[in-house]
Amino acid sequence: MKTAGRTPPLPRGHLPVVQPGTLEKEKLTFPDLADLMGRLHFSTTDGRIWLDDQRMLLVHAKALGMLRREMIELLGVDMARGFMTRMGYHAGVTDAQLARKVRARTSIQDMFVVGPQMHCLEGIGISEAVRIDCDVEKGTHYGEFIWTSPVEDEEHIRHFSIGTEPACWMQIGYASGFSSEFMGRQVLYREVECQSMGHQVCRIVGKLVEEWGSEADDDLRFMMPGAFDDGLAQNLARPHCKLISTPDSPDGPNHPVGISPSFNSVMHMVRRVAPTQATVLFLGESGVGKEVFSRTLHRLSSRADKPFVAVNCAAIPEQLIESELFGVERGAFTGALQSRQGRFERAHGGTLFLDEIGTLTASAQGKLLRALQEGEIERLGDSQTRKVDVRVIAATNVDLRDEVAAGRFREDLFFRLNVFPVRITPLRERREDIPLLMTHFLSKFNLRHGRRLTGFTQRAVDAMLSYDWPGNIREMENVIERGVILAPDDGAIDSPHLFTSGERFTEQRFSINQDGKLVPVNAASLVADASKEREIERVTRRVNNLLLNDSEDCDNVSLDEIETVLLRRAVERAQGNVAAAARLLGITRPQMVYRLKSRGILNECD
Ligand SMILES: [Zn+2]
Repeated sequence: MKTAGRTPPLPRGHLPVVQPGTLEKEKLTFPDLADLMGRLHFSTTDGRIWLDDQRMLLVHAKALGMLRREMIELLGVDMARGFMTRMGYHAGVTDAQLARKVRARTSIQDMFVVGPQMHCLEGIGISEAVRIDCDVEKGTHYGEFIWTSPVEDEEHIRHFSIGTEPACWMQIGYASGFSSEFMGRQVLYREVECQSMGHQVCRIVGKLVEEWGSEADDDLRFMMPGAFDDGLAQNLARPHCKLISTPDSPDGPNHPVGISPSFNSVMHMVRRVAPTQATVLFLGESGVGKEVFSRTLHRLSSRADKPFVAVNCAAIPEQLIESELFGVERGAFTGALQSRQGRFERAHGGTLFLDEIGTLTASAQGKLLRALQEGEIERLGDSQTRKVDVRVIAATNVDLRDEVAAGRFREDLFFRLNVFPVRITPLRERREDIPLLMTHFLSKFNLRHGRRLTGFTQRAVDAMLSYDWPGNIREMENVIERGVILAPDDGAIDSPHLFTSGERFTEQRFSINQDGKLVPVNAASLVADASKEREIERVTRRVNNLLLNDSEDCDNVSLDEIETVLLRRAVERAQGNVAAAARLLGITRPQMVYRLKSRGILNECD
């Protein structure tokens, strides 16, 4: 897009050398930041500071410096740097979302410089642009900035002397997170000069991860929690631990991609349990990537060189599931013309992944329990017992406790499976992962379909980031594959290429009212139509009157109406998240779903 000056394109993998004296004339001017300052609000009545819809915290720079120093001394430079980098990354992602909202009608560049301007507003330091060359549609990004008096350097130099490594860790994380979220692809900033190294100013350069090549591997490690834990460092070179997927990733599409705290906590649990023999139960909505995590778990285990066998129990007809899992002996039933191994036998020595375990028949559940407890199975129509050494990973998107309560699932099997449950968060609750997944799937389908698409249009990035992804990662994968097929070659994927099957958007925007409280601007997605809103108001008024003993207008309000209002309000409060709405009302998710469906509320949000 816009370029300041005439800096020639840099050779791949090389850090820029800027001639002395060229800086001043190449500085870009930023727009007035009054629009950003207007979003900052101090609410002294409830002790909150808001930056738009985000709660902020005013922290003493000295306290941050002390924390930083303690981390360095206690955990070592690498781990401390990792913590600070990731903290900055998440702040950057959040501010990029703000940029998109506040500067929606400005040029890409004015929208992008919200990042450096927020740096100034949040007290990090002054950031000046040397060169910004970013085009979301063409998928190009080059950014070069000068930082003067950054808070992190000041604190670093206060506690440590000038050294050989850059120290603006949090800020580099911020720039990388902001740009990745902004571009819808993974961008990495590196600090090539730093005051903590004795330079006059700090200078940072940002490019797409794949353009950095292998020299960026070291910097990428700081974005991965656990990267510097004992024994993990050597795993980093292995593809399954890579945070970022590159088009030539030998591991293909089968490794989890993410950076959000909830993604990281799942990866942490997977790494913990992988070396053991424990049965693992993955929980979470459809499409969150349970199988991908299971494959990773298998790869990290001692069974990695043995088979990984996946079975979707729901995809196999009930009458076939037992022969599929446990095998069949010739003549066991009409049509069983020859003996056949089941999945258990095929997974011998390795891992068996049983998806949608809640759909197993009672008889299959009994046999599975025996296999888990005794390590033995019997083929159908066979009297011989066979020993199998199989680690089982199960997964479900239903609440197995409810299934047990309803008598549809064996309690003993549930306890046997529930040794190490791992819950995977839906994509809408970890939106930081969206840009990484977009990059990942774009590369994957470019490769698969022989296309050369450059990226996504600004409009498409906005749409991807504001969509709620009810079908989670699987839905995103399908949507991007569709986009890769529909978009013109050498161009960018636009939103009409992506959202072609009536996906519904529920954009949530908030503003601060006169009391400094946060209020949704665009009520709730569920109460889209005004007549429903009026109906809710009417019932609410009557309920209030009833509670306040006001004789007027309190008859004719039924318990059923009240419940409907409560359900709607809860879903609204939970921003369409049914599980969260259920928690608000102290009921289970299935109970909530049942109630919402019976009132026709659920269909409105699905
Ligand atoms: Zn620095």
